[in-house]
Amino acid sequence: MNADEIMEQEDFKRCAEFHGHICPGLAIGYRAGKAALAWLEERRSPDEEMVATVETNACGTDAIQVLTGCTLGKGNLLFKDQGKHVYTIVSRKTGEGVRIALLNGVMNLSDRHLNLIQKIREDQASPEERREFQTLHLNKGRQLLETPLEELFSIRNASAPVPEKAMIEPSMPCDRCQEPTMLSRLEKINGQSLCRGCAG
Ligand SMILES: [Zn+2]
Ligand SMILES: [Zn+2]
Repeated sequence: MNADEIMEQEDFKRCAEFHGHICPGLAIGYRAGKAALAWLEERRSPDEEMVATVETNACGTDAIQVLTGCTLGKGNLLFKDQGKHVYTIVSRKTGEGVRIALLNGVMNLSDRHLNLIQKIREDQASPEERREFQTLHLNKGRQLLETPLEELFSIRNASAPVPEKAMIEPSMPCDRCQEPTMLSRLEKINGQSLCRGCAG
């Protein structure tokens, strides 16, 4: 499929809607998520619950959440703050799955593109420059949607820790702020039960 066809797919539209825009990072997350689903489908029953470990909290992670159904609230999305486009998706039952890591160079942007990002960050970009940035950004995303998978990622078997299923846990008010806090997250300090916010 070319970029236009991919962007017409229902699942891509859901990713773009959830994320709020189309960008290179979202394209990477979409390709990684689709690759993971295909990998898992080949090897096990596709309706098995998955657990995703993401090593970035950037754009791509939103596509992973939409495609895999792994979310923070369900407790099956784990975030390791390592600043890498690495996504490990495993079956909850076995902990076995696939690790998808972006190859070096794939996300390289042109000097002009980087220059415009800098200007926008410093609030120095003219309306024309903002438009030029949007075009470059979208084109980079389109390019990534069309790039053959093996040129984007290293993909290999992996296992990952499977977290406990999200549990409903009783809360008690923190002795300082009175906000109800899960028991397991209250800390005893000088005889008081404090939430982590108050415990510092
Ligand atoms: Zn984005
Ligand atoms: Zn508190």
